Amino acid sequence: MSSSLFQLNSITRSDSSIRFLIPSGVDLYKYVIFLSDLKPGKCSSVVEARLLRFWEARNVKRGGELMWVDMLLMDVNSTLMQATINANRLPKFQDRLAAGTIYSVSGFDVARCAQNFKLADSSLMIRFSDSTEFDVLSDPVSPIPAEGFRFRNQSELVGLANTNTHLPDIIGEIVLVKSTVSDPPEDKNRVMVTVKLENDVSVTLSLFDAQAVSFHQKLGGMCGDPKVIVATSINPKMVGGRLFLNATSGTHVYYDKETHAGESLFYRLVARDTGLPSAAPLLRSYAKVEPMTIAELNNFITTDPPQQEIDFLCTGRVSRVEADKGWCYVACSKCSKKLQRTVTSFECARCSNPHAVGSLRYRVEMVVTDDTAEGTFVCFDGVMTKLHNLRASEAAQLLAEEGVNPEESAMPPFVAGMEGKTYTFQVRVTSYNFTVNHQTFTVSRIINEVEHAPAPDFVDDGGDDNDDDDASNGTIDREKSGSGKGICESSKSAGKEPAGNMRKRARIA
Ligand SMILES: [Zn+2]
Repeated sequence: MSSSLFQLNSITRSDSSIRFLIPSGVDLYKYVIFLSDLKPGKCSSVVEARLLRFWEARNVKRGGELMWVDMLLMDVNSTLMQATINANRLPKFQDRLAAGTIYSVSGFDVARCAQNFKLADSSLMIRFSDSTEFDVLSDPVSPIPAEGFRFRNQSELVGLANTNTHLPDIIGEIVLVKSTVSDPPEDKNRVMVTVKLENDVSVTLSLFDAQAVSFHQKLGGMCGDPKVIVATSINPKMVGGRLFLNATSGTHVYYDKETHAGESLFYRLVARDTGLPSAAPLLRSYAKVEPMTIAELNNFITTDPPQQEIDFLCTGRVSRVEADKGWCYVACSKCSKKLQRTVTSFECARCSNPHAVGSLRYRVEMVVTDDTAEGTFVCFDGVMTKLHNLRASEAAQLLAEEGVNPEESAMPPFVAGMEGKTYTFQVRVTSYNFTVNHQTFTVSRIINEVEHAPAPDFVDDGGDDNDDDDASNGTIDREKSGSGKGICESSKSAGKEPAGNMRKRARIA
């Protein structure tokens, strides 16, 4: 029987009175967790993270022998964490390493990191072991931000100087470059870049040897002088009362529009230098996340389907949570595609794996209405987990019904309770979203719940906005969620909705 896959043992969570249920088939049912959840020791869960950058650590005293590869990972919450692969394990992973790529990682060790030269705020780091699985996620369910920096301004850099505690990042305007690199390069090389940080304070960034040569050569190969520099993992030093920034082996340099952060400073500098408004909106089809009404969104995709992903902000009321579409599914922990349940296991068609490891993820469809039109929005795992501060697997355990698979179980009250509430959504539009039979908008972020949103005058606002069943503050009241009160209330308001929608449609037509 398939229900035996989810035999449940109950344990008591030490930090609350909640009776928590954990499935016994741990191997079959791994958890996707956040980097901030990691604890020292062996980790049997899965993390999904973007590899921001990686670099080699070599032993200069032993002829430049490769010791390990350092990596900087970032998850959906923008938590940064350092990770390392020892040189002897590198052949197993090397071919898959690509900056910017998203991976699922499991079976690694979590260790405390050294208290000096830290690349991330976390006190922990990930070490790859022989049992580590490291797979490219080509189609991640939760959008992970493209970049993450730890920018520090001048006074913060002065505070960190000579402490050797943190290796922060900087962004600024390139004012001057002095280089000792000759053509062809000789043994000792150094480049000194004068960088103007915010508040117009200038500091000197020094790069040495191979990094100096590559900086010099890249600059020489550029058509015009770059305006903006982003430099990562620099070590601030006070020398003779002045601040100097030294590159480290982890330093990467990006120019102008190579990063989003650099791009926005670039356009501000262009605007300042020309005295004209920034040309950014003219140069790109979109410059930032613009607000749009649902009618505009619908119009946008029918008249001009986007060739690339575009995000918009859209404020609307959840007029219906589509309960019949379910609220979660079992995803392949390697490729994140939906798994097929067989009698004794899960099968992944994409990975051709008849015994795939599944993880439970949210997928909630909802009809969102503003005073212009309505649209179907889909919230995936990262968005729902963040909003309710509760993972799909935890929700399934809290609400477990005997003999019912989680993905077929009743919608949790806090999900159903989104009905009637107004949120500002960040919506991602891709051409994939719009085929003849498939018109949905993917929610990439819920910015906020809008308090006391004025109800449009022509909508029969039958929703009961008495929020006592709301679990969005991250706590679940066992008594309330167990009573079914939330479900009852939301189905009551759902029953009223169609009339309101019909009136609205009539008005628009
Ligand atoms: Zn798969």
